[in-house]
Amino acid sequence: FPSKLPNVGTTIFTVMSALATEHNAVNLGQGFPDFECAPELVDAVTQAMKAGHNQYPPMPGVPALREAVARKIEALHGKAYNPNTEITITAGATQAIITAILAVVHPGDEVIVLDPCYDSYAPNIDLAGGKAVRVPLTPGTFRPDFAKISAAITPRTRAIIINSPHNPSATIWTAEEMRQLEALLAPTDILLISDEVYEHMVFDGAEHQSAARFAGLAARAFIVSSFGKTFHVTGWKVGTVAAPAALTAEFRKVHQFNVFTVNTPMQHGLAAYLQDPTPYLQLPAFYQAKRDLFRQGLEGSRLKLLPSTGSYFQCVDISAVSDLNESDFCQWLTREVGVAAIPLSAFYGDSFDQRVVRFCFAKKDETLRAALERLRKL
Ligand code: PMP
Ligand code: GLN
Repeated sequence: FPSKLPNVGTTIFTVMSALATEHNAVNLGQGFPDFECAPELVDAVTQAMKAGHNQYPPMPGVPALREAVARKIEALHGKAYNPNTEITITAGATQAIITAILAVVHPGDEVIVLDPCYDSYAPNIDLAGGKAVRVPLTPGTFRPDFAKISAAITPRTRAIIINSPHNPSATIWTAEEMRQLEALLAPTDILLISDEVYEHMVFDGAEHQSAARFAGLAARAFIVSSFGKTFHVTGWKVGTVAAPAALTAEFRKVHQFNVFTVNTPMQHGLAAYLQDPTPYLQLPAFYQAKRDLFRQGLEGSRLKLLPSTGSYFQCVDISAVSDLNESDFCQWLTREVGVAAIPLSAFYGDSFDQRVVRFCFAKKDETLRAALERLRKL
């Protein structure tokens, strides 16, 4: 039978993690922490299970968690979302994004994505019968190019997907760029999917510019986040979507028929843990220290560091080290040097060799040091 996704194979993250395991390499490829989450969070979930929170929760999520999420967004960004009608708990950001796309994209609709971008967006759009229109971020700096975005808009454009802090480039959008997007979309009815899973990983005193801060964006936006990133529990797969009531109503129509609801004890545990903002307020400093350790370790090596101002990624230019294209380089690095990385070509529609690979520094300091010892020999 004909494949619905003929051009899709196994994701690069799965491929590189398997290769890392096979070759006993330090895995700085797939983005996930190799350290434990806070024991208080595990206790909170355990207590929820013991307290009998083990059956289906309400379809949009446990009320206490939706309320905690709404309070957090209002405290950080000054935008009040109604937890009953505007916040939904999802099975991670991945399910949030595909659900938003399935809810609003009709066959033949176009959705603008900015290359390089997370690998699920385009296949999600395909599954909805839409067309991903890939607009490149500015080569080298990865900044949004509003002239190019504007030129890509047609009467069929249903939505645009943005992602800040950005995977894979580790750049963050400025308030000015968010305002430019707001102005560009103002005369249109184009929807926004704002992937903010790395919202709490911004460095050097910068602030995360959530779409929630910009009235003209918030009014048209699904704002997506993930507790997997914020609390070091990528395997729990719990995320959130904040969106105006009319968008949330459409979102929930799809949500109720693809997962219906998200596991109950995790939601209760997260609701309790969110009462104290300290853990996520400390996250920038926590990850900035890891970024600095990793960057300092690479200084003087032949890998050229690109800026890393947000997310838990560090990109490097490999030109001075190897003539291999970035995909072959990552294979070679994993097999021969013993460090796994992700080629940036995996995040582009038309993959091309721009000599850049991505490392994830969400790792124990000792893991980073073990990787650095190998990378410095390059
Ligand atoms: N968006 C981006 C940009 C990501 O990097 C990730 C995680 N790799 C996701 C979405 C998916 O998040 P989750 O694990 O919560 O599904
Ligand atoms: N988001 C993670 C990354 O970019 C991996 C998620 C996945 O394995 N699908 O590395």
